[in-house]
Amino acid sequence: MLSPPVIVWLRADLRLADNPALHAAAERGPVLPVFILDETPPLRALGGASRWWLDKSLRSLDGALRQQGAPLILRRGPALEILQDLIAETGAREVVWSRLYDPASIARDTEIKARLSAAGVACRSYNASLLSEPWEIATGAGGPFKVFSAYWRTAGPRAGAQAPLPAPARLRGLETPVRSDTLDAWGLHPTQPDWSGGFSEWTPGEAGAKARLATFLANAANAYGDGRDRPDKPWTSKLSPHLHFGEIGPRQVWAAVEAHIHAGGAAGSGAVFQKELGWREFNHHLLFHFPKTETDSLNPRFDAFPWRNAADEMEAWRRGRTGYPIVDAGMRQLWASGWMHNRVRMIVASFLIKDLLVDWRIGESWFWDTLVDADIANNIAGWQWTAGSGADAAPYFRVFNPVLQGERFDPEGDYVRRWVPELAKLPKSAIHAPWQADARVLSAADVRLGFTYPRPIVDHAWARDRALKIFQELP
Ligand SMILES: Cc1cc2nc3c(=O)[nH]c(=O)nc-3n(C[C@H](O)[C@H](O)[C@H](O)COP(=O)(O)OP(=O)(O)OC[C@H]3O[C@@H](n4cnc5c(N)ncnc54)[C@H](O)[C@@H]3O)c2cc1C
Repeated sequence: MLSPPVIVWLRADLRLADNPALHAAAERGPVLPVFILDETPPLRALGGASRWWLDKSLRSLDGALRQQGAPLILRRGPALEILQDLIAETGAREVVWSRLYDPASIARDTEIKARLSAAGVACRSYNASLLSEPWEIATGAGGPFKVFSAYWRTAGPRAGAQAPLPAPARLRGLETPVRSDTLDAWGLHPTQPDWSGGFSEWTPGEAGAKARLATFLANAANAYGDGRDRPDKPWTSKLSPHLHFGEIGPRQVWAAVEAHIHAGGAAGSGAVFQKELGWREFNHHLLFHFPKTETDSLNPRFDAFPWRNAADEMEAWRRGRTGYPIVDAGMRQLWASGWMHNRVRMIVASFLIKDLLVDWRIGESWFWDTLVDADIANNIAGWQWTAGSGADAAPYFRVFNPVLQGERFDPEGDYVRRWVPELAKLPKSAIHAPWQADARVLSAADVRLGFTYPRPIVDHAWARDRALKIFQELP
């Protein structure tokens, strides 16, 4: 007779390798891997693009676990009730999981731990998602950091301290099958809109994550230091959705970059890339220590900001029809592929907040719905950084100029040409500001402003002055 199983509650750690909770459970006896789709408020409901990704990631995870003899059990609803059901069904006396860091998940997990422990079921949690736990990195006075450079001076030197774990050599499943929902019944993959075409570049799952990392190291890692700001080039890793869903962990990525450097890869570029992993760590540190920032500006001065409710302009921004080519290219890349280059995320966010004076939370929620890497800590920090309302933020007076940004970071205009095809025939001298182009240049490129492509919905120089004036008048 087999001993009772350990329930491995998988959440944002959808992988077998470097998964300490799964590893520990496998050493103790039979395992019951379970994924619970729990969207009980105040937990955030997943956005559409995240649902698309999760559907495929879970299929991939189930395949890998099934091969090892322990198929994935799917259940939907409040996690405490579901775990209690599974404990009753299987006689499990232990539940393990990897920690999450957003306030609603922490509150839920704390309650689950208390309730199950009181019923004699041991609960153990592990770190699968971060290089350092948010509470392990502290200022000299013992408090949290608010400035990245100081944070990274402390966190950076210890970031590679823990080597990644291998996948468990073998897993033992249960002899008696346990009921599972099916992914088809969950219907996570949306059909309206059908994103599946443009999303074909992605391969959700652990194998896809490993392949993505290998491609980056082979083709782009050495160019990353100078090239990471170029949206027209494939010079960033695109690991963000894989990291978000935990199909690969930061310890694995860190170790692979170290190995790449030791094998002769560009050390400077490698360090710049590792520092970006540091921003991911810092954002989780901030959300953990300042949980209110999920909904409120960290800087209370912004509470009095007279945000505009400009429905038409917001819709033009969402659809990529603002008349600013770099903004429109970014918003269309997001809609078509579920991802946007980091430089362009900053440009489009600055445009929404500072040129249109729309509340950063509206942009955050659109990104939440449309990004395959939608992540509470990173998205909140990215939006508050751009607004100037967050920790270590861009100063409010730093308003991105969409024309200059386009000319600098998309110098040939290829990024715009790819995502805004109606401008594809414009020369690079006109592509970032078509309204300033000579009529003959427009005509030769088949561009009719106001017909084939919009005129700017707002004048940037005027909008910048408006924003700065409002900010200066804030209490
Ligand atoms: C307004 C705004 C919203 C954002 N929302 C998200 C989000 O929801 N989810 C998300 O993962 N990232 C978000 N970012 C951060 C960043 O844009 C993405 O992580 C990055 O573009 C992902 O592409 P990549 O994997 O090719 O990055 P790479 O340049 O290859 O970097 C490697 C990894 O480091 C991390 N990273 C890189 N840059 C940042 C950064 N600035 N902040 C935090 N982590 C970083 C990511 O995990 C990334 O996968 C946001 C940035 C802004 C300005």
